[in-house]
Amino acid sequence: MSWATEVLLQHESRISVATDLSLLTGLLRRCEICGAIFDPLEWRFVEAYKAGNALISNHAPEVEVFGGDRRAMTDAIKQAVDEAPTSCRCY
Ligand SMILES: [Zn+2]
Repeated sequence: MSWATEVLLQHESRISVATDLSLLTGLLRRCEICGAIFDPLEWRFVEAYKAGNALISNHAPEVEVFGGDRRAMTDAIKQAVDEAPTSCRCY
C-alpha cells in the first residue's frame, strides 16, 4: 500500500469514527426514515469533544485510529459536520 493510500484510509476511518461520535452525542443525526446523516444545526460540539476525549483518556479501541491525538479527533469531528448536509431529502 502506498503512503498516500495509507494516509487517505486513515483519514477516512478517522472521519467515520468522528461521525459515530457525533451521532452518539446528537451533534449529527440520522434520519429514521431514509437513514441519511445530517447536521441538525444544534452545534453540540462540546458534547462530542467531551465524549471523544473521554474515550481517548480511557484508551478505548473505538478511538484507536486517532493514536491519542485529541486535536486530530476534534479536527475529524469538525470535518464530519462540515461535510454533512443540514437536512435529508425527507424535509
Ligand atoms: Zn430522511
